[in-house]
Amino acid sequence: MRKVVPGPLSVVGQREFLKKISGIPRRILVTGGGGFLGSHICERLLSLGHTVICLDNFSTGRRENLSHLVQNPHFHIIDHDVRKPYLIDADVIFNFASPASPPDYQADPVGTLMTNVLGALHALENARATGATVIQSSTSEIYGDPLLSPQREVYFGNVNPIGPRACYDEGKRSAETLFFDYHRSHRVKIKVARIFNTYGPRMRPDDGRVISNFVVQALLGKDLTIYGDGQQTRSFCYVNDLIDGFLRLSVSADDCIGPINLGNPGEFTVLELAQMVRSLTGSRSRIVHQAAAVDDPRQRRPDISQALTELAWEPKVILRDGLERTIAYFEERLSAADRATAGQAV
Ligand code: NAD
Ligand code: UDP
Repeated sequence: MRKVVPGPLSVVGQREFLKKISGIPRRILVTGGGGFLGSHICERLLSLGHTVICLDNFSTGRRENLSHLVQNPHFHIIDHDVRKPYLIDADVIFNFASPASPPDYQADPVGTLMTNVLGALHALENARATGATVIQSSTSEIYGDPLLSPQREVYFGNVNPIGPRACYDEGKRSAETLFFDYHRSHRVKIKVARIFNTYGPRMRPDDGRVISNFVVQALLGKDLTIYGDGQQTRSFCYVNDLIDGFLRLSVSADDCIGPINLGNPGEFTVLELAQMVRSLTGSRSRIVHQAAAVDDPRQRRPDISQALTELAWEPKVILRDGLERTIAYFEERLSAADRATAGQAV
């Protein structure tokens, strides 16, 4: 096994990275750019002087995520569904289009599977035609309900192919297959990142994922709903850290193709998360238990030694700090009307 010494990035590493990422202005296509992660990528790329084309059908994303960018002459939005082919000249493609929260992706399972399979195919075909490097936002769901922890990239996973999560998990697994086959068969330049649970500003309040749910519930004085016993674990990465990882991956050597885990190894039970959110918001909400979700992974924690070695990347924001920033975002966004309605409902 490779020995990795964790620690802060060296100053030289950071400087070299900044030079590479902001060096030559490039045309960058971001599918799913109107979503939570996609909008952060668009924003960061524009701030570095690149031209950014956001391709989105706004099914789970929001135009308001991009409202502060639309005046930028280097930013373009194209309404398009990635299940249909497209041809856009680009140097780099970030393929982010897919519903990501379990309620979102289970609402239209066939649509989710097809978005991931056809979305990957069309991004790869676009890359093949234009010579672009294409970066796939894969997921820790590749590992399913893992029998090994922490999860390393060599682990093949434990996915139920016929359960309610399969549309997403198997869609992402098929997408990885397509990426590697296009690389082997057509020499398309690829990079595959497996994202572990990421959170932060611009998640939708009704998105259904655990952090947005708990924060909104706590701020509105509603019960915090734990699915199951709350002993299942997740490792939560703050969005800015994740975006740094993606940018580093985008300027890595051509032979750095992944798959590579990007996530924060700090592991928490869902119950610990609920208690932390309640304490940070000063909420008096109760913590209640509801039925466990089907096929809910019991544990999830990334082994990020590969990212440390190959990208000199590791997350910097601890959960408590990231939650404080996320709470501040939702506090500002939740309207007086939301609070008044919640007050009547409690
Ligand atoms: P999100 O739902 O906020 O964003 C997804 C975006 O894709 C939305 O803007 C949506 O409108 C768009 N989209 C969906 N289907 C589309 C289609 N058929 N055509 C065009 N656009 C479409 O989710 P997110 O959290 O920002 O996730 C972005 C990507 O990262 C997804 O591919 C997701 O699977 C992956 N990912 C996210 C996480 C996470 O914790 N946030 C973890 C693992 C993987
Ligand atoms: N979860 C929960 N309450 C909620 C939402 C989610 O207890 O209101 C649990 C969910 O069952 C899972 C964990 O929190 O065990 C993370 O769920 P999320 O949907 O955020 O991400 P994923 O399951 O895709 O990792």
